[in-house]
Amino acid sequence: MSESEAQERKIHYPPMPNGIDYLRDVVDRLARESGEPSERDLKYAVLHLQAAAEVLLKARLREEHWSLVVAKAEKTNRKKFEAGDFESASNAETVRRLVEVAGLDISAADKKTLLDLAADRNQLQHWGITEEVNAVLTRAANVLDFLIRFLDQYLLPQISADDKEATAGDLEEIRKGLTRIESYVASRMARLRDEDLKGHEDRTVRCPDCQQSALIIDGQNSCLFCPRDWPDPLELASAYDEGSGYFPAPGEPYEDTLVDCPDCETPTLVLEAETVARAGSFVPLCFNCARVQDDLEECGRCGERYRPTDEESICYSCFSDLLG
Ligand SMILES: [Zn+2]
Ligand SMILES: [Zn+2]
Ligand SMILES: [Zn+2]
Repeated sequence: MSESEAQERKIHYPPMPNGIDYLRDVVDRLARESGEPSERDLKYAVLHLQAAAEVLLKARLREEHWSLVVAKAEKTNRKKFEAGDFESASNAETVRRLVEVAGLDISAADKKTLLDLAADRNQLQHWGITEEVNAVLTRAANVLDFLIRFLDQYLLPQISADDKEATAGDLEEIRKGLTRIESYVASRMARLRDEDLKGHEDRTVRCPDCQQSALIIDGQNSCLFCPRDWPDPLELASAYDEGSGYFPAPGEPYEDTLVDCPDCETPTLVLEAETVARAGSFVPLCFNCARVQDDLEECGRCGERYRPTDEESICYSCFSDLLG
């Protein structure tokens, strides 16, 4: 082998098998046959999951055109690109280009999953792991699920026969690993629903961290799946409201679904909370005083929520204000 051949072989690490290799490492760390993943496993699983997402999404952009992988196409050329001398597009921009330039169909929920992962990775690099094992597992399962669908739909149909053979074993392990994580989550949730969450269904909502419906709003505000407490009701209410997946249609104003609670007077009343007892519909629930506020009206004058005592259409303070 000549020196230049050896050099070429060393650098040659095609994006798709490289991304699949990262994913294999993720399931090896998270979906063990026995024993919990260590803190080190969690750390490298998050880092490698993010690396896999980046490599695989960009592999698809590169198929469209190499310049789409670059942050600023006007500042580069093909030679620099091939030498790896370029700044690559951010995660959010990569997803945007896949949808708006390449025309791929990526749902709002999948977009959020990917951007949350990037945020996790950044947090991890600066502060270390701050989340519980279970929260990492459920979030990783969401990303794995998306990336496997992405591979099946957009990348594997184009893969060369050689790459197909080289990655088949890893892909099988990755699919099995995802199933193992999902069944762990499902069986733990089934046990929680039958035991600790029983009787609390009217105040149990989805946890913004692990995404499981295992968070009891009762003042203590504990997620039994993570498990973790949310000591600051305001922080929890905002995280919950943000994660509700509500995005206004283009041109529509963003409607605030987090308002002042008339009872405890804190801005922790989530108008569109989905409890286990009323799955599929929304109920106003205060994340501070833990009251289900389904008897409130919106004041016709100031827009605040109030509890009508009669048939009045404005709140008490507007009423006294008008009286002077
Ligand atoms: Zn949780
Ligand atoms: Zn309240
Ligand atoms: Zn009013």
